[in-house]
Amino acid sequence: MPSINENFLKLEKNYLFINIAKKVNAYKEANPDADIIRMGIGDVTQPIAKCVVDAMKKGADEMGVKETFKGYEDSGTGYDFLKEAVSGYYNSFGVTVSPDEIRINDGAKADCGNIVDIFGDDNVVLITDPAYPVYVDTNLMNGRTVIYADSNEENGFAAMPDESVHADLIYLCSPNNPTGSAYTASQLKTWIDYALKNKAIIIYDAAYEAFITEDIPRSIFAVEGARQCAIEMCSLSKTAGFTGMRCGYTVIPKELSVIASNGTEVSISDLWGRREGSKFNGVSYPVQCAAAAVFSEEGLKQTKENIKYYQQNAKVISAALDELGIKYTGGKNSPYIWLKCPNGMGSWEFFDKLLNEANVVGTPGAGFGKNGEGWFRLTAFGDAERTKEAMERFKKMKF
Ligand code: PLP
Repeated sequence: MPSINENFLKLEKNYLFINIAKKVNAYKEANPDADIIRMGIGDVTQPIAKCVVDAMKKGADEMGVKETFKGYEDSGTGYDFLKEAVSGYYNSFGVTVSPDEIRINDGAKADCGNIVDIFGDDNVVLITDPAYPVYVDTNLMNGRTVIYADSNEENGFAAMPDESVHADLIYLCSPNNPTGSAYTASQLKTWIDYALKNKAIIIYDAAYEAFITEDIPRSIFAVEGARQCAIEMCSLSKTAGFTGMRCGYTVIPKELSVIASNGTEVSISDLWGRREGSKFNGVSYPVQCAAAAVFSEEGLKQTKENIKYYQQNAKVISAALDELGIKYTGGKNSPYIWLKCPNGMGSWEFFDKLLNEANVVGTPGAGFGKNGEGWFRLTAFGDAERTKEAMERFKKMKF
């Protein structure tokens, strides 16, 4: 009988969305006519831009023709045409990243989770709390020590480093899921200086960069020093509606390296390349054609329309909360609005109240870490009319 990785037994059960579904189903059973509006799940709802779908169809057609058929991709790190398109996209907001520093993947979740393969299990991992659960879970699966930096009301849900604490790997997500907050350049510089001082590596999740409206960095590489200490992960899921298509990219600067125990300097890019060479065979050609079309002039124009649609929803949610005097972060640079449950209510208590009194479903903040207790996440990814309706119901509630 094989033994198992017993670290899996120590993981918390993934109860958050199961519990939500259970509660919603029970409510629906008791109230079959209730018109429930879901503002909990972080999935997009708008269809993919036409020019992107056309590019995917063209790619699929090429697969059916002998002369243009594609088998395994040579490198497995993405076709040059897509890496060049991503590099051009970075250039458009003033960041220089060369195509050979870009790895195309099947979404940011996989790389966020798999990157742990190339680091030793003796590393101390620092994660901001609350957080996207993948960072914590994948490190606990390897038995690593995880320490937390608190994101809370006092610091505007923008955790900063504690200089007295050492970390080897640091996870930052900006704009943040779940809190919607986003780091300024000077805050990122503080994290970069901390990482350089500790010889640590920052794993920077920029999955929501396309939602930034203020003058803050869309990439950690916009800030000096990041190339020496950071890896960036990004995704087309929320930028271009690719949650069902699966495509993202990871950027590893050429100069990023560590010293191995035998004293040799090891390139992180080479190490990740070695890992990918053994465990990953690339993203399908039609999907890469679609992804490249996202970064074309027309693609950017059409996908921006969808983002604007969600941003308008975020404005509607924010305006209602302003009217009610409810505190929140997010909404401006993010599709998430992170609100303080009124009257000191707990996250689940507020969930029940919202479901029962307004038939609106959100996500209890407690599901994202200890600092999420007493907070609640609403998403702007829904239908515009339904979002307005939800907030009208919200306004009629008695707190
Ligand atoms: N990173 C964050 C912070 C996310 O919220 C998500 C998805 O919700 C992802 C990464 C994963 O995105 P993908 O669909 O590219 O795997």
